[in-house]
Amino acid sequence: MHETAVAQSIVETILVEAKKIDKKPIRAKISCGQFNALNDEVMEFAFDVASQDTACKGMKLEIHHVPLRANCKKCQNEFEFDIYSGSCPTCGNSEIEFVPDAPLLLEEIEFEDEDS
Ligand SMILES: [Zn+2]
Repeated sequence: MHETAVAQSIVETILVEAKKIDKKPIRAKISCGQFNALNDEVMEFAFDVASQDTACKGMKLEIHHVPLRANCKKCQNEFEFDIYSGSCPTCGNSEIEFVPDAPLLLEEIEFEDEDS
């Protein structure tokens, strides 16, 4: 359950950015890998709680799950790792090496545009 900590740090980051340009944030997009995956529902709830009484209240949060990638040690093919098959989709070899997992990232913040 690291969602609470993640939500808090995201809210803090957004607030800093919002203050810089003096606009209200309305939407944010975050991405995470598979090893540090976030649970969407828990995350949305944690975000609601963390954004309570801040300029982030009512913001929409999008969570993009980046698939885990792996390299086949035999044919060097890089592929999207499927936990259900567990082997290289090209040659079927199961000796694979994981590509470093995607970090947890705040990718985008959308602010209210007062001109439109
Ligand atoms: Zn292969």
